[in-house]
Amino acid sequence: MNKVFDVSRTGNPFVDQGLYCISYLVAKRLEDLTQEDFRNVLDKYNIAFLNKNLKSFTMVFGTNNPLYQNAYKPNNEKIYTSYLLELIDGISTSGYDYCEICGENYDFDIDTAWQNVCQKHKLNYKERKYVGRDTFPLIGSIGNDAQALPGASKIQNVCPKCLFAVNFIPLSTSLLKGKLTCYESTSEEMLYGLISHNVKQNQARISAGEKEILGKKEGTAKIFESFLDIMRDMKDANLPDYEAVYIWNFSNSGTGADCSIIEIPNRSLKFLCKLSRKSEELKREFLNLMQNDKGNRLLDALLESKDSSLLYPYKKYTGVSVHLYEIYQTEIVGRSEKALSFAKTVALELKDGKNLKEIEKLKSSDIFKGLANRNRVRKLIVEMILDGEAGFDDYAELFNPSGKYLYNPLIQDYDPIMYYIYNSEAEVKE
Ligand SMILES: [Zn+2]
Repeated sequence: MNKVFDVSRTGNPFVDQGLYCISYLVAKRLEDLTQEDFRNVLDKYNIAFLNKNLKSFTMVFGTNNPLYQNAYKPNNEKIYTSYLLELIDGISTSGYDYCEICGENYDFDIDTAWQNVCQKHKLNYKERKYVGRDTFPLIGSIGNDAQALPGASKIQNVCPKCLFAVNFIPLSTSLLKGKLTCYESTSEEMLYGLISHNVKQNQARISAGEKEILGKKEGTAKIFESFLDIMRDMKDANLPDYEAVYIWNFSNSGTGADCSIIEIPNRSLKFLCKLSRKSEELKREFLNLMQNDKGNRLLDALLESKDSSLLYPYKKYTGVSVHLYEIYQTEIVGRSEKALSFAKTVALELKDGKNLKEIEKLKSSDIFKGLANRNRVRKLIVEMILDGEAGFDDYAELFNPSGKYLYNPLIQDYDPIMYYIYNSEAEVKE
């Protein structure tokens, strides 16, 4: 059958995730997809079997979906496939109904479609079927509410194309913080990359007999590994300033229906992009740090464009490599290369003329907690300026980059100096 409908991004993360998954599976651009592609993809990839065997399915649709209802055993997969085929047949470009998800007109009634399925499989048609959260994630409906607006829910108008697309979420999703993810991004290339990466990884797991999807017991690091791989392969390394990724982190199962949106801001994306194109060793170092960070402190710092104590020396740990530290500082925290270079000079000056024992004494993550050492550094900088070894602009760059009048340096402004006390090579006095 020829193309009789338009497919484009809807702006709804659930539908777009499904559509991009289909687009990857049939190796066609989103706007070129046809009803025939929808039929082929069901058959070629045995979607009913896959969804029955993916643990993510019930997190997307709960257990009221025909694929999981006990009463339909052992024909769940056949009944579910018939339901999906009814959706495909119901796709049209005109009609009096208006889809609240994609904004297009349509002519389809889920109850009529369900009656057809019942007739085909000689099932007992019990009551009128509505679009609910067993057919579309987190949607509120009569008798089947997502606990979001219990007093104000109504039946949602959703077209069959959108209802069909969401059935590809289980294959294209991953786990983050115990919930599922759907991606949205201003960059089509990145969005397609992230979703197709998930599909590839989940397909590999299914082939290995694994029912768990990407991210299970793997932590945040696994998700960021995907980001790094995709960004390494992207054509353009210079991300525009408006580009961001939004992760819809949700669960639709049981009474725990919930959704939050995590923004990976432009600054974090640029950091990841830069990191991905450096070395495999640097990438590993960052991922290991994230993997061992059980409280997600690094993730939170990354998303809020803040510095992280995990980068810094603590007791015997000397902090991350200088390379990783400097990329993080310049891309995420916003410190300039000049500020970092001056912090290093000050650290070397502090170590100057000291023997090994004296230098070891300086190595403490708390060195600048007390006022005495902070004053000592400021005095040292004044001496450096008077001696012509530094300029006031160096001081301002490190301690007052935003140029605020009478700004008093905060304790954390001394952190780069502490870092370089550990991570700079000074001449040691015998
Ligand atoms: Zn729609």
